[in-house]
Amino acid sequence: MNEADAALVTGAIKKYYLDHHDMVPTPDKISRREFGYQVGGGSMVRHLSYADERALRVMLVGTAPSDVYCSNACYRFPTFAMKEKSWLDASLIFDIDAKDLGLPCRVGHSILVCAECARVSPAAAGKCAACQSQKVTVRSLPCTKCAAASLKEVAKLREILVDDLGMDDSSIHVYFSGNEGFHVHVDPGSFDALGSRERAELADYIMFKGAIPEAYGVPRAPGAKLGLPGPDDPGWRGRLVRSLGAAPAKKAARAGHAEFQKTLGSAGIGARIDPQVTTDIHRIFRMPGSINGKSGLAKVPVPDGSKFDAYTESCLIDSAKVDITAECPHRFVLGGRRFGPYSAKDTSVELYAAVYMICKGFAAAR
Ligand SMILES: [Zn+2]
Ligand SMILES: [Zn+2]
Repeated sequence: MNEADAALVTGAIKKYYLDHHDMVPTPDKISRREFGYQVGGGSMVRHLSYADERALRVMLVGTAPSDVYCSNACYRFPTFAMKEKSWLDASLIFDIDAKDLGLPCRVGHSILVCAECARVSPAAAGKCAACQSQKVTVRSLPCTKCAAASLKEVAKLREILVDDLGMDDSSIHVYFSGNEGFHVHVDPGSFDALGSRERAELADYIMFKGAIPEAYGVPRAPGAKLGLPGPDDPGWRGRLVRSLGAAPAKKAARAGHAEFQKTLGSAGIGARIDPQVTTDIHRIFRMPGSINGKSGLAKVPVPDGSKFDAYTESCLIDSAKVDITAECPHRFVLGGRRFGPYSAKDTSVELYAAVYMICKGFAAAR
């Protein structure tokens, strides 16, 4: 990002933190948390600590970081080196990202931005169509299908947390990450003392990984009596039968142990979380209410049950018009308005759209 682009983006973020400080909830036990941030998408500064809400706000407005992160863990000494922090506990977090879901719509709204000449090319080209450079970054435009598919995974996760792990539904908080993902934060509770290995087991369970036919009443010995679960059985046993249907489940079981193992593998009923996020107990995680430097959109809560338009609700940067040069091959909708396509065109757009395109590499300040 050149100086003019960085100045425009940082100015917009500064105004966001001035106008919308109520959007940024103060983390509980704030003085026990480790914070980190990046300015203009640059290198990460971490091992920081803020004594209270005011100190955090002074940093946000004063530094206007492109990205801010806060540990889900509490430490006795949050500013010390990792080994010396003295870890106390960490609340559970989950990340569900549209780019990990293998959706067929992805290629249609993915765009390559060239690191050498800054021109854009369609994802299918595989390299820069202008200068043939292989040094390209994949950037994606918002897609309602991606958001809907991710929210479906969030709903699966929520059901498992409540029904199987006994969590209170009101302790689960879902956020749109501001780019393409959804984050799930669980209030402090009985899982906070778990180490990384136990969390990996928890992640496997949630993802329905490592399921074996024996657990579903399908023994290895050919001809042995089957003990298939019923649809109302708790946990995965009932969920599997409900998903397959009682008759197809029975048919799959009769096909034998090896075939049933394949059925388990292709059932697609696990929630597709990123296990690395859940198992990392020292992670600093994007802070609720903060701006996502990949888009200029904010990480905002997803309300329960109501319809949620991620690319309107998170669009909180100012709407004053600014001049940019834009090169964006696809149309996109942001803040309820349509933008693009632009082919290396001088134009005037709302600040939030300018920041969005600059962060993605589709525009430059003019
Ligand atoms: Zn190029
Ligand atoms: Zn999509």
